[in-house]
Amino acid sequence: MFRTTLRHTCPACGEGELFAAGYRLNARCSACGLDLLGRDGAHYGGPIALGYGIGGIAGIGVFMILLLRFGFQTWVVWASVGTVVLSILATFRHCKAWWTWGLYRAGQLGRGPS
Ligand SMILES: [Zn+2]
Repeated sequence: MFRTTLRHTCPACGEGELFAAGYRLNARCSACGLDLLGRDGAHYGGPIALGYGIGGIAGIGVFMILLLRFGFQTWVVWASVGTVVLSILATFRHCKAWWTWGLYRAGQLGRGPS
């Protein structure tokens, strides 16, 4: 699981790259041919919810720390919002890789004809 999540490789063989470019997944593993996309829509929702959850927690954490240190100021709010956006961008690939591993373990990804 950690190999798939942190190195963004195929959950079945650990060799093929998960991502084609940016946040877009390869359709199949280049090493073992595993169908990485699964059924239509299998990838939507989960990683986005995870990413926003992590972003929200990070943003609230930064906001509380800055609020206690500097009081309520406009830049404190903006710094917190910036933290949310940055942490979503920074963790989204990991969330998606982890989600792919979860789909594989749940039997949602396979070597079917589609
Ligand atoms: Zn593979």
